[in-house]
Amino acid sequence: MAKVYVKINCKVSDKYCGKCCYNTEMILFREDVERLVKLGYKTEYFAVKREGKLVLRNVDGHCVFLDPSTNKCTIYPHRPIGCRFYPLVYDVSSGEVVVDKECPRYKEALRYIKTHGHLLKRILAREGII
Ligand code: SF4
Repeated sequence: MAKVYVKINCKVSDKYCGKCCYNTEMILFREDVERLVKLGYKTEYFAVKREGKLVLRNVDGHCVFLDPSTNKCTIYPHRPIGCRFYPLVYDVSSGEVVVDKECPRYKEALRYIKTHGHLLKRILAREGII
């Protein structure tokens, strides 16, 4: 699983964009929680419960794992599965995987819908989310 991810350039004008890490609502899967706990983080440090699901915790308006001085993810190699798929997201109303147009690089990710969309749906189904 760890090798499956969407590869896009997260830099805009030579700086990390970080947009997707502000006011994040990224859902955490069981294996995300297990991986981060193994790294030594306490669940209550990085996660909050929303509508019965665990999501990343925000601190000062950004993900607890974001370094706001650089907009870099401090756990990048261990980041949650949802972050690896972003800007691919599941659209509840259509039931399809789409790209989040909030991402400045979303056009680069369009090609991943065909190759990765079904994988994301499979994981969401396995986790009982869809
Ligand atoms: S875990 Fe990393 S990539 Fe995911 S929202 Fe937090 S800072 Fe961003």
